[in-house]
Amino acid sequence: MNASNHFLLKAKHVVSMDEKASLFSPGYVEIEGGTIKSTGSTEDKVFSVETIDYGDAAIIPGLINSHNHAAMCLFRGIADDLPLDEWLSGHIWPLEAKHLSPEFIRAGVRLAAVEMLKSGTTFFSDMYFFEHEAARAAKDAGIRIQLGEGLLAFPTPSAKNPEDTFKNIKEQYEKYRDDSLVHLSIACHSTYATTEDQLHRAAELASLWNLPVQIHCAETEKEAQESIAKRGKSQVAYLSEIGLLDTRIGLVHMVWPQEGDLDLLKKDNIGVVLCPQSNLKLASGIPPFGLYLKKGIRMSLGTDSAASNNNLDIWEEMRLAALLAKGSSLDPTSLSAKEALRTVTIDAARTWGIEAELGSIEVGKKADVVVVDLSRPHNTPSYDVYSTLVYAAGGSDVRDVYVEGRRVLKDGKVTGLDEAEVLKEARCWSKKIRDSRANV
Ligand SMILES: [Zn+2]
Repeated sequence: MNASNHFLLKAKHVVSMDEKASLFSPGYVEIEGGTIKSTGSTEDKVFSVETIDYGDAAIIPGLINSHNHAAMCLFRGIADDLPLDEWLSGHIWPLEAKHLSPEFIRAGVRLAAVEMLKSGTTFFSDMYFFEHEAARAAKDAGIRIQLGEGLLAFPTPSAKNPEDTFKNIKEQYEKYRDDSLVHLSIACHSTYATTEDQLHRAAELASLWNLPVQIHCAETEKEAQESIAKRGKSQVAYLSEIGLLDTRIGLVHMVWPQEGDLDLLKKDNIGVVLCPQSNLKLASGIPPFGLYLKKGIRMSLGTDSAASNNNLDIWEEMRLAALLAKGSSLDPTSLSAKEALRTVTIDAARTWGIEAELGSIEVGKKADVVVVDLSRPHNTPSYDVYSTLVYAAGGSDVRDVYVEGRRVLKDGKVTGLDEAEVLKEARCWSKKIRDSRANV
């Protein structure tokens, strides 16, 4: 942590990701009281405030992981190489029924937070249960969380019935609406696991409290076809009729958009949240990047949980998205390096309605910035910093991370939590989980 709340960071590049894609080489970011006071080129400038010179590095906006079930990292690698249905009903759901508790969430989110901060994620959108515990754990680590207490039509580990879920959401809203690190959302699991009435109530609450909505949608072909068979319309058309496309909604997965869906998304300026690694691992398919780009649909990226990924390194999603966009559309210009970096910075911020405060390095925004070491062999030489960041660099090149001006990662080490303690706790849980499976 910095002793003073007014200081300045310098590096070979400052990659702003603002509207003009301003790049300052060499550049600086001046931070005061948790916000960005000034930024620009260091040429001919003399600074009088405390300065950290990172040398051969890039300062980029804090990265945004737009879809996660963070605590599930305690199930990392527990049931690989299975079809989605079998993975869920045969393994994940029984494990959740047995183990989910506030303590589990706390241990899982602490582990996830350490992993994400070490790879430059400063904001993640979560959807799971006992989200008040997730908020506590994220705050301890100093990472931003967007809470998403999972709304389903049936009992969940944290709610005996859907009414309880609405109660939990309300309590979280009351407690965290003015919290600077905890962001709020309404998290509907999916169109197939919620009722129409619940979705109407979600839309009403989102508009009453001005909150974003997140929902899994069109992840598998089967699910997309079932909606058409059951309702005579796609899931997106159904959500539009309910009024959810009038809210700031992030549609998660969208591997299988149906005819007319893209027009609806375009009309209401709705963003899709793509999770390419999870979709590949569960064999759900490849999102149609080319179609989204052609239509001008805003894209952001998520890791999904570590149980279907199996890590939370958003850099891998960014690189994979750029490669899949090219490979699947047979167009090497598809999703350029600069566009790929937007999906985890400013475009993601737009999806969640936080672009006035986050997503780029601009004066007046929150000082969430990441320092990436460019001096390593795999980042050398660097002719174009966007190319280096997207195609060569990775999460392990992240050196320092600041969230609202707080140095939450220093020389690769988290400052808010004891990493050894977090890992010990996670191993303790893995023993419990393994033992419970042995007794089945
Ligand atoms: Zn998910």
